[in-house]
Amino acid sequence: MKLVVQVKLLPTPQQAAALEATLHAANRAANLVAALAFQHHCFRTFDLRKHTYDRIKAEFGLAAQAAQHVIKKVCDAYRTLHANLAAGNLGKPGSPRRVKAVAKPVSFRPLAAQPYDDRCLSWQHDARTVSIWTTAGRLKGVAFTGSAEQLALLAACRRGESDLVCRDGMWFLHACVQVPDVPVTAPDGFLGIDLGIANIATTSDGVRHSGKALKAVRHRHRRLRRRLQAKGTKSARRLLKRRRRKEARFAADANHVIAKSIVTEAERTGRGIALEDLQGIRERVRLRKPQRVTLHSWSFHQLGAFLAYKAVRAGVAVIHVDPSYTSQQCSRCGTVDKRNRPDQATFSCTSCGFAEHADVNAARNIASRGETGWAVSHAA
Ligand SMILES: [Zn+2]
Repeated sequence: MKLVVQVKLLPTPQQAAALEATLHAANRAANLVAALAFQHHCFRTFDLRKHTYDRIKAEFGLAAQAAQHVIKKVCDAYRTLHANLAAGNLGKPGSPRRVKAVAKPVSFRPLAAQPYDDRCLSWQHDARTVSIWTTAGRLKGVAFTGSAEQLALLAACRRGESDLVCRDGMWFLHACVQVPDVPVTAPDGFLGIDLGIANIATTSDGVRHSGKALKAVRHRHRRLRRRLQAKGTKSARRLLKRRRRKEARFAADANHVIAKSIVTEAERTGRGIALEDLQGIRERVRLRKPQRVTLHSWSFHQLGAFLAYKAVRAGVAVIHVDPSYTSQQCSRCGTVDKRNRPDQATFSCTSCGFAEHADVNAARNIASRGETGWAVSHAA
């Protein structure tokens, strides 16, 4: 399995200036290549290299590898654009968005990320430094830092390219790692996961990952965002962009913590993980409007993706089940009845009297559907 590990660079002011000058040069070169590609309708790496390679090397002071990467970056950007056009992601032919997208060459921000391969970037894991090519020559001994887990992963499994990224004045390397596949362990039962609003994730063991603290932070962010939007100045827009990224990081971090706790518990107990089919979540949950906004803006798909890759890495089986009526069905006797849910938080079976927190009851239903589903699909 391929993963991306992020490490933070700790350059001296001088090193940072060299990195900045390098990204500027690479992206000015990329903009030139993009303009030429657009002008000549030439989007293939091979052809484009023939026409631009010598020129950008000379004009922007790029090393051979850097020039190659610039050209490839431009081709990749056009490939993405063309794929998006073909998939209709930019609207129907003739729509303003689409017209705008095809009317001019793709462009790169001055500090857009730049790929590096092993010839222009080398890693000294013990010293925690990298040696990296810049337009001011090779920088040696640029310090980096990351979590212990990520650093170990990097030292053992790094393969291929890394991206040099500048964000909010900080420098990062996004490095590819190739993690060996772990065979899936035959599950002994399933841990069911119910997704929702009051509790982002509830397990069939009764562990609830509350959305309360997260919601408070998100509301604060939203109020601030509104104020900044109303202001509309350039600095307000810049601040807004930074807030948005900060909020995205915050949500991703919360999803990582939840996913890790769930996968660790499933692994420890030898169980698989049963999740509701995420497709259904928006249709399933009907709510008052303010809550609906919160739900739609929480990234359950991201949580699902984190769960999936952490499970693969641990060899934990994952199964998706049909979520219909999991909230109205009794996990003890199986009776389905709307009246089993007197309120949002309570489940109380009208048939057998079983009572439990509503989300825990739903998670138990998901766990047993997972077990059934797994038995059916692995009957042979
Ligand atoms: Zn019952």
